[in-house]
Amino acid sequence: MSEIYQVAIDGPSGAGKSTIAKAVARELGIDYIDTGAMYRAIGYKVKLQGVDPSDMAAVQDMLADTQIDLRQGEVFLDGENVSSQIRTPEMSMMASVCSQIPAVREKLVQLQREMGTRKSVIMDGRDIGTNVLKDAIFKIYLTASAEERARRRFLELQEKGEDQSFEDVLADIKQRDHNDMTRELNPLRKAEDAIELDSTGLDIDQVVQKVLEIVRG
Ligand code: C5P
Repeated sequence: MSEIYQVAIDGPSGAGKSTIAKAVARELGIDYIDTGAMYRAIGYKVKLQGVDPSDMAAVQDMLADTQIDLRQGEVFLDGENVSSQIRTPEMSMMASVCSQIPAVREKLVQLQREMGTRKSVIMDGRDIGTNVLKDAIFKIYLTASAEERARRRFLELQEKGEDQSFEDVLADIKQRDHNDMTRELNPLRKAEDAIELDSTGLDIDQVVQKVLEIVRG
């Protein structure tokens, strides 16, 4: 494929979107854009500066003075690499809360559209196929049962030495699903023209191959 094209991957938390998207990007030789990391960076700054997420004026002020960049898979917030700081259960929840704020979505969606139209990309998130890149040629909605997603997250956290119980991880996943699916602005849902892939019981390689089959036709 020579012309610019976009692959949108949406789905609930922990469905494996970023792992799959990264591998597919490598195979196709295109850029991967992790939009969740951008919401996490905002959540991190809100927490760091003690901004009240329900104080719209304070959030707007903060956003006016915030710069987010993605470079080689790393996330930079105001020039500082925050890639590891944003990968904690607390930042997952902060991102989920901040992603409900209209001004936050407006800023990040604009940025994501700019990133997604300059060159071929695979972009993952919650509203990519329905909103950010509505015209993407390839749209995938990646799901897995809440229990399977919690099990994967739990193992990941254990490897990092974080001691959250399985029940807590599952409750977090369900809470974030609820937040994502019921928020007013750009809630998580499958785009009408998206292909649904259920990754329950499949390994990473199998899902990557399925996505590659879709893109390569
Ligand atoms: O994908 P990830 O779990 O890193 O995303 C963190 C949070 O950011 C999600 O729980 C979701 O609420 C929010 N998000 C969003 N829209 C996107 C990507 C992420 O609302 N496009």
